[in-house]
Amino acid sequence: MVDRACRNCHQISDSNVCPECKSMDLSDDFSGIVVIVDPEHSTIAKIMGIKKKGRYAVRIR
Ligand SMILES: [Zn+2]
Repeated sequence: MVDRACRNCHQISDSNVCPECKSMDLSDDFSGIVVIVDPEHSTIAKIMGIKKKGRYAVRIR
């Protein structure tokens, strides 16, 4: 399985459809992985607009 990052919400998954926003616009060319475990108290999550915990790509090409 290849990890892919969603260009819409930045969530990383290994499926062809983003489990978060159902977008099919995914890329396997991304860099920087952020793991959000506590989105309500995470500054990074606020900056990136993340509301759920999970793995997210910082940059997607
Ligand atoms: Zn998404």
